[in-house]
Amino acid sequence: MVPVVELNDIAHVYVTDREASLAVEGIHLKVEPGEFVSLVGPSGCGKTTILSVIAGLLQPSKGAAYVNGDPIYGPSPEVGYMLQQDYLFPWRTIMDNALIGLELTERLNPESRSAVQNLLREMGLGDSGNLYPSQLSGGMRQRVALVRTLATDPGLLLLDEPFSALDYQTKLQLEDLIVETLKERGKTAILVTHDLSEAIAMSDRVILLNRNPGRIHRLFDIPENIRRAQPFFARKEPGFNELFHEIWGEMQTIGKE
Ligand code: ADP
Ligand code: MG
Repeated sequence: MVPVVELNDIAHVYVTDREASLAVEGIHLKVEPGEFVSLVGPSGCGKTTILSVIAGLLQPSKGAAYVNGDPIYGPSPEVGYMLQQDYLFPWRTIMDNALIGLELTERLNPESRSAVQNLLREMGLGDSGNLYPSQLSGGMRQRVALVRTLATDPGLLLLDEPFSALDYQTKLQLEDLIVETLKERGKTAILVTHDLSEAIAMSDRVILLNRNPGRIHRLFDIPENIRRAQPFFARKEPGFNELFHEIWGEMQTIGKE
């Protein structure tokens, strides 16, 4: 099978008018179809940089990057990007926000519109289509952002700390909803999070990065029983705490370097 994502010895240098800094180096990564992978590591270790390369928003200084076997040249409809900030347009209704990707790619028609209506309903937003973002809670807004990302039906979703602005309860609910929605549709996903328990609970694989420059420190395969459980219940599965402490211990050693 062709991996959905393949990064081959990626490095990136940010150049500003004052300095050049090596953000990431020697990044090798393969993500298989349907896999859910998390990137964790200290702030500044290059998680967002890696997602930006995969999203086609950033041309890496070195290395080769592929999505579905094709070199990445720029943003592609195959890749959906969801951020911590929902970036909903305040002057557009929820429905019109959710439709924006379809509009931009000229794929808005009665069928795609009704598919989005169904998605909104599935996310518990069936009655909110005519409201404006300011009328919604943070959790609801992130669900709209998810619908908007899914509306164009990308095979790969990049999620950059999508829960970090939410309260704990809302975040747990959204974790379950996202994993269920993506698994159901056979989507591949890469999640960036600073919450280690979230990474373990949601993922098939956790990738720990270290910094200065950002490199892959270690990969952790999540045991079958934890993977099969919904994120909320995964936290109570045998082996979860042990794995948490193992990765946590590794993270502490990175912090001290
Ligand atoms: P993370 O998402 O893991 O916090 P980033 O990918 O945002 O890390 O950043 C990695 C490194 O690159 C950091 O040292 C950061 O300061 C630097 N960096 C990120 N974006 C830019 C930019 N646009 N210009 C210059 N340096 C940047
Ligand atoms: Mg980041």
